[in-house]
Amino acid sequence: MLNLLPEWTYHYGEFWKAIKIRNLWFIRLRYLAAVILFGFFLTGEFLFHLNFSIEQIIAINGINFLILLYNVIVHSIRKYVSSEPGKFNGLHLSLIQMILDLSALMLLVYYTGLIESPLYMFFIFHMIIGSLILPGYIIYITAGLVSCAFALLTFFQRLNLIENHFIPGLYTGSRPHTLTYDILFVIIFAIMLFISVYIANKIAHQLYQRERQLRSSLEKLNEAEIAKQKYTIGIVHEIKTPIAAVHSILELIKNGYVGNVSELVEQKIQRAELRTEEALQLIKNILNISKLRLLEIRLTDEINVSVFIKNILDTFSDMAKEKSIALIFVDNTNEQLSIKSDKILLELVISNVISNALKYVEEGGTVEVRLDFKEEKFSIEVCDNGIGIPQKETDKIFEQFYRASNIDRTIHEGSGMGLAIVKEIVEKLGGIIKVTSPSRLAQANRPGTNFEIVIPTRYKQNEYDIFEVNKEDYLES
Ligand code: ATP
Ligand code: MG
Repeated sequence: MLNLLPEWTYHYGEFWKAIKIRNLWFIRLRYLAAVILFGFFLTGEFLFHLNFSIEQIIAINGINFLILLYNVIVHSIRKYVSSEPGKFNGLHLSLIQMILDLSALMLLVYYTGLIESPLYMFFIFHMIIGSLILPGYIIYITAGLVSCAFALLTFFQRLNLIENHFIPGLYTGSRPHTLTYDILFVIIFAIMLFISVYIANKIAHQLYQRERQLRSSLEKLNEAEIAKQKYTIGIVHEIKTPIAAVHSILELIKNGYVGNVSELVEQKIQRAELRTEEALQLIKNILNISKLRLLEIRLTDEINVSVFIKNILDTFSDMAKEKSIALIFVDNTNEQLSIKSDKILLELVISNVISNALKYVEEGGTVEVRLDFKEEKFSIEVCDNGIGIPQKETDKIFEQFYRASNIDRTIHEGSGMGLAIVKEIVEKLGGIIKVTSPSRLAQANRPGTNFEIVIPTRYKQNEYDIFEVNKEDYLES
């Protein structure tokens, strides 16, 4: 099998993908070309009165029919063509298409006046397209063959060895050109073909090279990110061990296992214990976000989203009651929505946003969770009438450790990591998260916040995710 693969594209998967896409693009373009050719014939004949001869009418429409026919055949076999260098592959299909197109075009040009044909420019267009796919030497050979065929036909015509098919409606006299004109035309035509091939080939080559460089930089960046996350996990784990030990010791002292402690000491120990708990919570969040970045997500859990959200809301009902908050669920999917996703990660997302709403809504407030489904995406909206987020800060709240300026740190505990984790997961699931404040539940002094999470139900995971684990053991809880 003829090897058409340019040497600079060996072992390069992207190349085959591009070839497949371009082949399909040519097929679609060819359907359009057939329609345009028919349009050219109709307008030429009936609007501009070009007076095509009977032979020309049969030839133009016959060639157009053939173009459509081979296009349908190529279109239907396209899917079965391999992407392997040694076999009949996408490049061979491109070459066959190019040969068929050039032959059809040569016939069309011949039947519409050859050197006088308004269609000859399409050869250049074909050369450029061919150069984007096939190796240079094939296109140079093709350009040579097209130039020779064009020159031969022109001179056979001049010598009356073959019939002339000028479009009658375009001319007043008989033969409009001298021999010198024909020679010049053919030479310039050939030069134009070769220059077009040269330029297009160079550009295609450079584009593939650039693409390859980009991909390799991306891979290096990804490796560096993985190394960074592993390093963070290592360090933070080391810090976690002594803090956990301090926490246990404080508990021993507080519970009187090492002798009696005065009330004042107990108070101080309680404070110290609280601070170590905060530090442990922070460590847990940092570990989770780093681990999430290394995690491969398998969308294999069958989830009925309505039931899933109801169950999560149940776990928050006591907390809502304590603060007299109305926790409302509006389900616009009629409990029909069943998806394949990752239960643990999805739960982490939804509970984080709901727990924030409950945390930042004052006594007697409202938190409304709304579920919708459209265009293969489901959206979960968590809307409240709490303290809201200052408009200038809405973009920053997804950054690690960021907490908005309007919170009261003595009441609202936290490390500012929850939403960073949420964003990380939502993006891994191929979705987006948006925040707006004030929300549609806004009241006087209660601007409220609205979080909207949109996740596609079909999603191809990132090819760089590196390993799969049991998330319940893997993530810190
Ligand atoms: P934790 O790490 O415990 O979640 P946190 O809740 O402060 O701490 P995030 O969940 O990341 O951290 O939220 C970041 C900030 O966004 C919060 O500190 C708060 O200022 C703001 N925020 C988030 N949700 C709301 C909400 N529903 N209403 C008002 N402000 C909010
Ligand atoms: Mg939070």
